[in-house]
Amino acid sequence: MNVPFQADRASCDELRCLQSSNSLPSSDQQLNSKLLSNHPSNHQLSSSQSPRSQPLSTQPSSRQPLSCKGAITLFAGPCAVESYGQMQKVAVCLRRNQLGWIRGGAFKLRTSSHSFQGLGQAGLDILARIAQEYGLATITEVVSTGSLEATAQAVDALQVGARNMYNYELLKAVSRVIAQSHQPVLLKRGIAATIAEWLEAAAYLALADNSDVMLCERGLRTFEQSYRYTLDIAAVAVVHQRSPLPVCVDVSHAAGTAALVPSLAQAAVAAGADALMIEVHPSPLHARSDGAQQLSIQEFEELLPRLRRIAATLDKKII
Ligand code: PEP
Ligand code: MN
Repeated sequence: MNVPFQADRASCDELRCLQSSNSLPSSDQQLNSKLLSNHPSNHQLSSSQSPRSQPLSTQPSSRQPLSCKGAITLFAGPCAVESYGQMQKVAVCLRRNQLGWIRGGAFKLRTSSHSFQGLGQAGLDILARIAQEYGLATITEVVSTGSLEATAQAVDALQVGARNMYNYELLKAVSRVIAQSHQPVLLKRGIAATIAEWLEAAAYLALADNSDVMLCERGLRTFEQSYRYTLDIAAVAVVHQRSPLPVCVDVSHAAGTAALVPSLAQAAVAAGADALMIEVHPSPLHARSDGAQQLSIQEFEELLPRLRRIAATLDKKII
């Protein structure tokens, strides 16, 4: 099935990419001059410069920067890619709601070695097929240098997870790959990383010219046990003050339970996030990872209009 692009996605190409520089504390100037000179905020993307324009063997269909001015990018999809049918159900929902990105982990970094570790290459193949068939841009986590090239060839954008924020060899390897492929990268904040450490980690990715890096707050490990992680919503404002990079908020991994996701997502939009990450699964009860925090398709579709209303008050669209 080949679904044409919706108007929202097409218009994203025409929007200037984020982001203007705010006044920056002097301690951040040096770091930011590198980030700023590289970021697409200073480079209007044309189709010939867009992320997937460089030759990689598998070419997903979309060519989207991670963020667009006046828009909040929504990265929705299951925690892990489990089957083609599972991804297809989510893809249909995303297209029905005029959303442009789908997420899903092919390689999963799990606390327990006995837990589902992801489908690996088969998961990447499913993501590439979904991109082709549904015209969705794809994002997945890159977990190691060994699987980096295969991962980059299969998807539109790479995600560096919280566990790997401090993996500088991986960050350097990703930087080398995106220097060739011009793919965007989403960098999660480590579970105990300061904002300064997170920005320094982003600078490794910005070693590649014209890099398109987005930061992602996903909650911190604190003494509080009422939720999985403590969402640092203030980080959105601080990143905007101190860095030219756009910032995403992953509400699902912070929440740990689906019931908390709507409140956190609404707060993230109101706080000025440039993107949201929300885990969605056609059958959360049967999910092979993070079942408790994933929204069902129905729950996701109930939340979306509420987020759109908050976004509209800020003159933003959710895409
Ligand atoms: C994920 O997004 O799939 C994930 C594992 O997130 P994090 O790295 O934030 O734990
Ligand atoms: Mn997950």
